[in-house]
Amino acid sequence: MCPLICPHCNTPIPLRLDQCFSCMARIKYGAPGIAFVVMAILSLIAGFKAAGIVPDRYSFLGWVAGWFFSVFLFIPGSVFVSRIWRHRVKFIQP
Ligand SMILES: [Zn+2]
Repeated sequence: MCPLICPHCNTPIPLRLDQCFSCMARIKYGAPGIAFVVMAILSLIAGFKAAGIVPDRYSFLGWVAGWFFSVFLFIPGSVFVSRIWRHRVKFIQP
């Protein structure tokens, strides 16, 4: 397959290597961590809103329902995030 090219030293890199052997830049694959943080926050907001169906959302039941909905939304959300960024490659200069 066509190799990656390091943007710092223009060395071709075999796919799946985690460091450039010429300039030692670190190579990250996949979704950025911030995407999962954003997804977690969105899931928490949506979960809290969904907890509104419980008569008293500040009760223990409302709290449990909110967390349940948050986790329920976060799992497919993080799968979606990993999928859209699965071909992303980032070079980090040491
Ligand atoms: Zn390099």
